[in-house]
Amino acid sequence: MSKQHTTQRELFESGPRWVEDDARHGTIATVVLPAGVEKPLDYLVPESLAASVEPGRRVRVPLGRANREQLAYCVAVRHGELPQAPLKSVAGVEDEQPLLSPRMLELTKWMAERWMARWGEVLEAVLPAGVRLRTRVRTSPLLVASGAAAPRRPTPAQARVLAAATEPQTAEQLAEATGASRAVVQRLHKMGLLQEAGSVERPLRSAAAERPAISHDRPAELSAAQEQALGSIKASMAARRAETIVLFGVTGSGKTEVYLQAVEETVSYGRQAIVLVPEISLTPQTCDRFRARFGKVAVLHSHLTPAERHAQWREIASGRVNVVVGARSAIFAPAPRLGLIVIDEEHESSFKQATAPRYHARDVAEWIAKAEGVPLVLGSATPSLETFARCLSGEWIMCRLADRVGGSQLPGVITVDLRERGSRSRGAVSPRLAAGIRWALDGGGQVMLLLNRRGFATHVQCHACGHTARCLQCDLALTLHQPGSRGICHGCGLVSRLPADCPDCRAPGLVHSGTGTQRLEEQIRRSFPEAAIARMDTDTMRERGSHERTLDAFRNREIDILVGTQMIAKGLDFPAVMLVGVINADAALHLADFRASERTCQLVTQVAGRSGRGPLGGRVVVQTSTPDHPAIRAAASHDYEAFVRSELPVREALLYPPYGSVVRIVVRSVDERAATDWAGHVVDRLRREAEGTPAIRVLGPAPAPIARLRDRFRWHLQVHGPDGAGLRALVARATAGLKTPDNVAWIIDVDPVDML
Ligand code: ADP
Ligand code: ZN
Repeated sequence: MSKQHTTQRELFESGPRWVEDDARHGTIATVVLPAGVEKPLDYLVPESLAASVEPGRRVRVPLGRANREQLAYCVAVRHGELPQAPLKSVAGVEDEQPLLSPRMLELTKWMAERWMARWGEVLEAVLPAGVRLRTRVRTSPLLVASGAAAPRRPTPAQARVLAAATEPQTAEQLAEATGASRAVVQRLHKMGLLQEAGSVERPLRSAAAERPAISHDRPAELSAAQEQALGSIKASMAARRAETIVLFGVTGSGKTEVYLQAVEETVSYGRQAIVLVPEISLTPQTCDRFRARFGKVAVLHSHLTPAERHAQWREIASGRVNVVVGARSAIFAPAPRLGLIVIDEEHESSFKQATAPRYHARDVAEWIAKAEGVPLVLGSATPSLETFARCLSGEWIMCRLADRVGGSQLPGVITVDLRERGSRSRGAVSPRLAAGIRWALDGGGQVMLLLNRRGFATHVQCHACGHTARCLQCDLALTLHQPGSRGICHGCGLVSRLPADCPDCRAPGLVHSGTGTQRLEEQIRRSFPEAAIARMDTDTMRERGSHERTLDAFRNREIDILVGTQMIAKGLDFPAVMLVGVINADAALHLADFRASERTCQLVTQVAGRSGRGPLGGRVVVQTSTPDHPAIRAAASHDYEAFVRSELPVREALLYPPYGSVVRIVVRSVDERAATDWAGHVVDRLRREAEGTPAIRVLGPAPAPIARLRDRFRWHLQVHGPDGAGLRALVARATAGLKTPDNVAWIIDVDPVDML
């Protein structure tokens, strides 16, 4: 009681001063520019705009000596003493309502620090373009009887419409209610017998209607492990605890069902849920299950037009939609009554944005969940090491779902050692794998073959001198694509005609070595002529809707063997798959990336998990040149945790995440010398700054693993340290005020997931 008193006194005593002495006091708006000036700027708010300038709206402000008007985000408004130097004034207000809530402003500010991005850049990134540009949401006029005298006797249909039009309705609604045609309604409108009374946003085209309805019944009962996981989430929700709950569940253990029921619970509280999936087009099944369970689901996918996105945004903000499903950026959906956040396949690297601001949706979700006091649910059969470590430390809660639901077993895995003689007698397919395919087909099952390399041949090489055909613009070998024997660069997409003879030594005939998905498909066709075969990779999936079509065909058993890249590894639940073959498990194992083993283990475990989900059972054949590698061994024995236990100490010793933070800087230039010099200059500054802090290590500069891309030379360097905030502060100090040469571009990536 007395405490409250003092607060009010203080407020009172300091309050009236600015009111009395208004010559030296005023209202000041702090604004952030989307680009250009990085620092927040103060402007005076003129009396006429005092009512409309508020945090979260955009304003127009004069900038520079020419006072060119620019759009800026108002991030704070305060009343107070004016500085000595006169302030410029806000020229106008752009938005009728705030686009960003105070919480979003706080979040974006935190993101800017967390990923060393500019605040303005983050503000732009969290708002969809359709919202920023206010792309028009399509509306329909509402019509109502005007009461005007009819020039002639109305026809019976006209009379019905006029009688029904006592309340404002759309033309569609009037036509539907009276059985009259739209033309009748329009005619009455033209005649002035119906008049407009406002408008409504047109209902969104329901994407669900475009897809065949699949039935996903709510199972009669949950497994004990599902029950327990759901119980933890519900308890957290009821107590309004901002806990992070990790569902570490083998493939097919029923994680999605737990998400669905947790979302049901959220909705029953009258609250909203955001569900993040790695990529909408690759996870049509998951989206369908949410659509089937909940009537109104906003699915935010990358094919939405800006207008559609704007409309979705408004539906969510108005609270008319309870469930939002989308990829990374859906985390910024403006749900006013948020009750739960779910991230499915939380280990996926697509949750980190590859362009500035380089945020990670998992960390953003954690921040929002804490701020809103709601639970965050992360699910995966192969949780990231970052997530695992936080469960081991007791900070997050881990729920294990160790078995598949319905008693189906995890498939037996056979490893084929590619170093053994005879293992490759049929091109890329070993006799063991071929026998496995035959076994599945004879048993009436389906087959999935994973090869993470598209194209026909991965190298085009001279057998005499070893010369490899390379991209003119990139430091990458060309991949041969058929038909037409085109050499395509997978870095920049440039297509080159491949020479018939070696351009170096003139030896005739270049050899096509290495197998891509095209060649694999061809080999499989030859070996299994009676089977229906389809291929899924970026080359065959360019058309909108092609994923869905191929997956539907696979589900309907029109396809026996599906060949594909990692696109086929995720979240698919096809009970008839009896065999999964991994053509080359080591393909990504030896990349210069500290997460190479983790990714390999995850990919092989995930794709193996597509097998044996139904009553037919299943097997997996993994071809590898390093069968004893912990990543491969763990995946082959369904023991992801064994891999985690072997990998965590390695990370700890090197201070890599989750035990430390990494800042990677990539420098690019058309001029190799300029790139090298600049990288060297930045490294010198970092080393000087890090002197006396032995825990911080500066590595590099060195050519990036892809040393040239799109005609730019690439150099990179890394800084590691045990404490992220300290490390970022150090990098910020070292790079402050650097004047970058014109022909150099460089980026800072905090806790990168891409090291190439
Ligand atoms: P995950 O997401 O862990 O891979 P899913 O939720 O997709 O697992 O479940 C795998 C399959 O089992 C799905 O077809 C799903 O409908 C079914 N399923 C999930 N939970 C149950 C349950 N309690 N009883 C019966 N079937 C279930
Ligand atoms: Zn290229």
